[in-house]
Amino acid sequence: MDCNRDAKVDLHVHSTASDGTLPPLQILRRAVALGLKAIAITDHDTVAGARDVAAAGVPPSMRFFTGIEISAAPPPGYPCRGSFHVLGYGIRLDDPLLEDALAVLQTARRERNPGMISRLRELGMDISMAELAAEAGDGQIGRPHIARCMMNKGYVETFDEAFDRFIGAGKPAYVDKYRISCERAIHLIRHAGGVAVLAHPGLLRPAGSPSFDDLIRGLTAMGLGGIEVYYPEHTPEQTALYRSTAERFGLVMTGGTDYHGDIKPGIELGIGDGTFSVPEFVYEKLAERCGAAGGISER
Ligand code: AMP
Ligand code: ZN
Ligand code: FE
Ligand code: FE
Repeated sequence: MDCNRDAKVDLHVHSTASDGTLPPLQILRRAVALGLKAIAITDHDTVAGARDVAAAGVPPSMRFFTGIEISAAPPPGYPCRGSFHVLGYGIRLDDPLLEDALAVLQTARRERNPGMISRLRELGMDISMAELAAEAGDGQIGRPHIARCMMNKGYVETFDEAFDRFIGAGKPAYVDKYRISCERAIHLIRHAGGVAVLAHPGLLRPAGSPSFDDLIRGLTAMGLGGIEVYYPEHTPEQTALYRSTAERFGLVMTGGTDYHGDIKPGIELGIGDGTFSVPEFVYEKLAERCGAAGGISER
């Protein structure tokens, strides 16, 4: 793949602490090798990966933001079929309120897995909890690990096929998990000193055609600080819309690849499919919003 020289920032990255395949310190090493100026580790409902990087320290050339991606329930006026995720940046990793809430979400994730495995077994797929656990290693199990097990056993050919036919929202082996409200997610992030950002609005898939402005107005009143404008799956039109919405509401713009390592082929750290990049001003503005305490920039 051609190296995208513009790629300097990646603020949406999953590590082995959740459903990525690269350990946190290897992500850091790769980011340094790529010459990225800023990264964040944003694992699903856990800060274990961000904690590893913070403990190891970051070279002075790199701005590291602590991060989280919380799966939340959308506001009642904006029902969604897609992924309603709230990113948090510059959070304190030892905030007790956040830690307690994440423990509850981690339990909800654990409780969901046997349900999905039993649905797959009912559909004739011989996949066990032990195989799933082996696929996830020390990290928290997520649907991408289930997709990988299905591929290993030849029940599907591709990752996307697993989601499209079986484990995507509303598909036969999908089991929903407990979510906190978006208001609570935003509050937890702010309480931990962080900036709350609506993740990949292009993936929300709202039911009907509710007003995106109304959604952002409501979330901003709850304390939202930003919108993830730059995302590999956003069309140029979506990017322009989210950008102008962020400007009108005085929100920061963020962006990242949603890198998951080998488990999500075709998405590389910093460059996505090779054509993607996040403008540098994004991390500078986010750093201003996070303040001196947010993120860690030096060893
Ligand atoms: P989980 O939080 O365990 O339900 O899994 C969420 C992860 O699954 C996301 O971060 C994506 O990587 C992946 N994912 C969710 N929906 C899809 C989809 N329709 N196609 C491909 N990957 C998906
Ligand atoms: Zn994921
Ligand atoms: Fe997400
Ligand atoms: Fe993500």
